[in-house]
Parts: sequence; structure tokens; C-alpha cells
Amino acid sequence: MSDIETILAQLTLEEKAALCTGASMWTTAAIERLGVPAILMTDGPHGVRRSPDIHQIAAKSLPATCFPTASCLAATWDRDLVRQVGEALGQEARALGVNVLLGPGLNMKRSPRCGRNFEYYSEDPFLAGELAAAFIAGVQSQGVGTSVKHFAANNQETERFRIDAIVDERTLREIYLPAFETAVKKGRPWTVMCAYNKLNGVHCAEHPTLLTDILKREWGFEGLVVSDWGAVHDRVQSLRAGLDLEMPGPQPRRTQAVIDAVRSGALDEAVLDEAVRRILGIVFKAAETPLGGAFDVDGHHALARKAAGEGIVLLKNNGILPLRDPRRIAVIGRAAKEPYFQGGGSSHINPTRVDIPFDEVQKLAGAAQLTYTEGYPAGPGFDQALIEEATAAARAADVALLFVALPAFIESEGYDRADLGLTPQQVALIQAVCAVQPNSVVILNNGSALTMSEWLDGPAAVLEAWMMGQAGGGAIADVLFGLVNPSGKLAETFPRKLADTPAHINFPGDAGQVRYGEGIFIGYRYYDAKEMPVLFPFGYGLSYTSFAYSHPRLSAEIFDDVDGVTVSVDVTNTGAVAGKEVVQVYVHDRRSKLVRPPKELKGFAKVALQPGETKTVTIPLDFRAFAYYHPGYRQWVAEDGEFDILIAASAADVRCTLTATLRSTLKLPCILNRESTVREWLEDPVGRVVFDPMYQQIKARTAAMFGGEGGGLGMDPTGFMMEMPLLSLLRFQEGNLPMPADAIVDAMLQAAHEMAART
Ligand code: BGC
Repeated sequence: MSDIETILAQLTLEEKAALCTGASMWTTAAIERLGVPAILMTDGPHGVRRSPDIHQIAAKSLPATCFPTASCLAATWDRDLVRQVGEALGQEARALGVNVLLGPGLNMKRSPRCGRNFEYYSEDPFLAGELAAAFIAGVQSQGVGTSVKHFAANNQETERFRIDAIVDERTLREIYLPAFETAVKKGRPWTVMCAYNKLNGVHCAEHPTLLTDILKREWGFEGLVVSDWGAVHDRVQSLRAGLDLEMPGPQPRRTQAVIDAVRSGALDEAVLDEAVRRILGIVFKAAETPLGGAFDVDGHHALARKAAGEGIVLLKNNGILPLRDPRRIAVIGRAAKEPYFQGGGSSHINPTRVDIPFDEVQKLAGAAQLTYTEGYPAGPGFDQALIEEATAAARAADVALLFVALPAFIESEGYDRADLGLTPQQVALIQAVCAVQPNSVVILNNGSALTMSEWLDGPAAVLEAWMMGQAGGGAIADVLFGLVNPSGKLAETFPRKLADTPAHINFPGDAGQVRYGEGIFIGYRYYDAKEMPVLFPFGYGLSYTSFAYSHPRLSAEIFDDVDGVTVSVDVTNTGAVAGKEVVQVYVHDRRSKLVRPPKELKGFAKVALQPGETKTVTIPLDFRAFAYYHPGYRQWVAEDGEFDILIAASAADVRCTLTATLRSTLKLPCILNRESTVREWLEDPVGRVVFDPMYQQIKARTAAMFGGEGGGLGMDPTGFMMEMPLLSLLRFQEGNLPMPADAIVDAMLQAAHEMAART
């Protein structure tokens, strides 16, 4: 018997129930008589928010490095860097006595309005999953666990504890689950945190399909499922569904309910045992890591600066950047002195120090004279005097640097944005300053896409600096002065206006429900399909150098789905300074039975190049790169045929297109049923064989029935027939049939299913 089984056998029912609920805001229960220690969990995701008091949820936490938030980290498109950030977080967690860091956040950016988007990576599940796996690997390499959150379909803050996300199965599988799937399969996180919301009518904390069937059985998740804080409604049902640990605790009444349920037979004790087994597994794994000690405060600050520098996206540049020795710089905007480097809510940490952008600019500006004006008020009001003061300063300078941060009262965990704009004062400020100073640079701090159409023409350059972590001030200065060549690329589309966004008419829902009516078409999948122009596309970002792509090639032109194919391309730095390029590979299915997005990201790599240097980038594409989830077969399907493989610098900047032919090795089951249409019978490989002998006869009878080709009803009878269930069609013809229509179709179905089972 393993240690865990030995302990399990000795635990009383009361102890088992107690173990499945927290003992405090942040810890699990210890069972001292059996040597079971407690573990401590804490937020997450971009810094360690270790409360000095385990009974307090919102106390000022112990100092820790605030790394760039997920929006910024994702814009690095750099797995290695994200892994390094994870390692540093793991070290800090250890030093601060933490066993599990509550992150990464993997929810899709369904709408830029989601107030918590700053904690999430992307609108694209492939990118989010890859980065999450790297993050998990980094943290867990230090013997500290992670918690992949919030599982699942937690894509808004409005009514977040109770909203019922209505999502069809294909959309769930293709958009909202894959990042979790990759994180679980590649990253093997110690824990997964269920979301607060409902999914298709059931709270995620009590959702057996999600927590047990998909997460544990299908994906093989071996760790423990923890509730989001306060997400459990019915503890007994949540245990049955696969939720192992309820947080926070203690919850004596609910623990008693579990004990009573076992005693009355309403809950199988084996279910409780399984939860305890998983909890003990993580508790003992955690116990292997000695906690305490110090962490490298300076080194981590430097890493935070590096990560922020790589995540900052240069959106516009008429050549003013990098700055060349301006003598007088007007620094405008309160974010220059009060940097907005992290978001509000559970991820809000107490930084070890904070780089002030104004000071960092001053350090790199040599002898330049800097002035500072506030530009806009801290609150929602409008103050024309601040605009006038800023304009006067801008007029007197060679360059104006406008630091504009979206205020926390607009964007935070806990509430969603009402629109995608800056405040009226910020817009007026940018317009006024740019009107008097053509050399204006706007530096933005925000967690998700902004609209800019009202003012984008004004500035000479725009930097998207996100909520860039405690060292972001230095990183901004590095980019402004060219010490860092920007290489960040957007992990989310910036639309022209709110009404263009895919979820617009279905966000955030009402009356307790939100319908994911846009289905699989979120982010660039939607804008591509609608051929809708955007402000800045997914994957976009400028550099101080330029890159050329050449010699695109594939490992094979015809390949089996199970083998996948590898794509290579040479990338050359054609400019005068060193830089980094993010090469993106998208796949387009030329022909498919189900509707598919025009293209989907399936691979990427970031490559560093000296001026004139060329490197070959090689990106593997596996079965899933070509597959879609078929809700009829309830499995991933890659169809035979041609696929275009697009090598791109952004979703709107495809540099090379290759075509490869996939050979499917899948043996799909026959899913014909009494409702199958004539077209489905003809398209199904066995259905066609069974149906063929009578097809011509039925077709002729249908033509006659509808008055012949071009007859009485003014339509094409064959086209009309194709979309009818075969059974319905035959019912119209029953007078001419030897048997009832039902009997004929049932016999055909039996033959088809038998034939499919044989082949
Ligand atoms: C958040 C989680 C967080 C937890 C603990 C919840 O409100 O949704 O992301 O980990 O609180 O602070």
C-alpha cells in the first residue's frame, strides 16, 4: 500500500470531510496525528500575493515582484521568457512560504470589455495554451504548484458568480477548452481552479462533465480540482462532480453535510476517498519542497523589466522612435508618476519596488530638460485646466510623451468595461497635445484592446505598454530610447469600434444568461470571416528594424494526419539594428464539411536576429493543427484534402502560403440516424452504399411529385430533396413503397451501422 493509501485507510470520516475544505482563507487542513501537513495557496498569477495573515482575504501582502500581467506576457510570444518568469515566481513563492500559486489565468478574451482580461493571455486558444504550459513548467520546476484558472467559460465579470454561459459543444471544444487542455496535458499543473459561473445551466463547481469526464478522464488530469474562492453551492454535489477541494474554509456546516451524506448513503464514500487521495497527493508533493529563505529581489526586478520590454507593442511609429537626443521633453499624464502597472482585484500585489516612468525617462534622456504635467485627473471628472497646462508644456518642448492609463474604475477584476475608449478627458488631452506638438508619443497602460479612432491620427508614435509590472517604467524608457527594440505583438485584435466586436450583441448577456452566439468566431477568426477591417490585427507589432521571409518549405506535400507536417522558413533582419520577429503559422482548410474560420493560429516562434542575419525557423504542425471538433462524432476530425499553411507576421500580414494534402487515417463511426438528410446519406461512406440502389428511384419520384424539373413549385426538386431527412421524404412517397417509410429507413440504418462496424 502506498503512503497515501495507508493514511487514507486511517482517516476518520470527519477527517476526510475536513480535508476537502480549506482550514483558512489560504490553507488546507492538517491532520497532525497522521503527519498530514497543511498547504498554502495564494494568488497569482503575475506575482505572489502572500497575505501575512492566513485568515484575511485582502490584507496588504508581503512584498513580492510584480511581473507584467498576462496581457503583456502574452504579447512577448516567448515561451522561454514566460518560463523564466514562472521560475522566478516559483522561487518567490517558496521564499514566502507558498505551496501553490493561483495562476495562470487562461480564459479566452471573448470580448475586450471583460474587466479581467489583463489576467488572461489571448483571444487565441493555441497561443494561450502554449504560454500557460511554459508558465506552469517554470513555476513547478521550483517545487511549487500552479492552479490553472478559471475552468471554464469565465469570460466576463458581470454577474460572474452566477452567469450561465450558454456555449455549444463545438465552441467549447475549439475555443474555450483547448488552452486548458494544452496546459493540463503539457504543463501538468498540480491544481485546476473551477470557475464561479454556470456552464450550460450547471455551476462549474458542480459540473461533472467538465470536472470529471473531460478534465480527469479525457485529459488525464492527476492533480486536484479546487474551487474558485466561494464558488461551491452544494458541497455534496460538487464532490460527486469531481471538485476535490473547496476554498476558502472552514465551512463546518457544509463539511457536516458531507459526513451526513456519506452516513445516509446519499454520497458514496469512494467519491470522498478519491477527492482525499488527490488532495493528499498534492499535499505530499508540496511537502517535498523546503520553504523559506530569500529571493533575488534585484534579479527578479531586472527580469520583470526584460519581460515588460518584450511585451510592449509598438503600434504606430512615423520614425520618431527611438528618440534621438531631444533637448526638451514634456512628460504628460499622471501615469508617468503613478504608473498603472497592475490591475485591481485578487492579483493585486505589493511590489518590492516600482520604476517610475518619469524617473526612468530622465535617466536615459541625458542632458534633456523634462517637465511634468498631470494631464488628467485621478477620478472620472473633466478638468480643462489640466489639458491647458499640458498643452503649454508640449508646445514648449521638442517631444511630448503622453502617459495615458485606463483608470482602475473602468477596468478591474469584478466589473466589465462599458466601452473600449479612454476617458473623455484622456481623448481630449491627446487631441489637444498632438495639435500643438507633432512629435507626440502616446504610451498606453491598459489590460485589453482599446479603440483609438478618435485620436490615432494625432501622435507620431503609440506604444501599448499594458499593465507592465513593477519594472515597466524602465522598460518603457528602454523602448523609447532604443535600448530595447520592440518585439511585442498583439495577442488580441484591436477593433475599430465596440460594435465590431464578435460578442457585441451577446455581451454580457442578461437575466442570468450569456449566449456565446458568435460560436467559434471570436477574435481574428471573426474579423477574418466578416472581412472586417480592424484597427490593429492579432499578431501585429512594429519594430525598429524590418524582416524578410524567404524559402518557405514543408517536410512533405502529402502527409498522414497522425504524422503532421513541419513548416520551415528563413527570416532575415533587413534593417540596421538587432531585433526579434514573431513568426506565426496559420492553417486554412480549403474544404470542410463544417464551417471553419478562414484561418487559425497553429504554430509560432520568436527569433532574434542581428542586422543582416538570417535564421531558419521550423514549426511543427500536428494532427490537431488541422482538426476541428465534430459535435456529431463528438471527436476531433481532420478531413482529407488540401490545407493552406500561411506563414505570417500578423493575422493580416501573410508573407508566404504553402499547400499540403492531408490523408485522414481516422475511422469515423457511422452517425446516420432517423433524422439524417438525403445529403448526409449520400456523403456518408457506408450510407451511400446502402442508399445508392434506391436513390435514383427516389429522386425520380421526388421530381414527379413536385411536378418535374422546374415544375409547379418553381424550385429544383433535387436541391429541395437533399436537405430533407430521408424518412420525411419517404413518408411523402409511402403510397409507392412496399413497406412503411419508417421500416425502410430503420432497415437501412441497421445495414449502414453494421457495415460501418465491419469496415
Ligand atoms: C478569483 C481567483 C482568485 C481567488 C483567490 C477569486 O475571487 O476569481 O482568481 O484566485 O479569488 O483570491
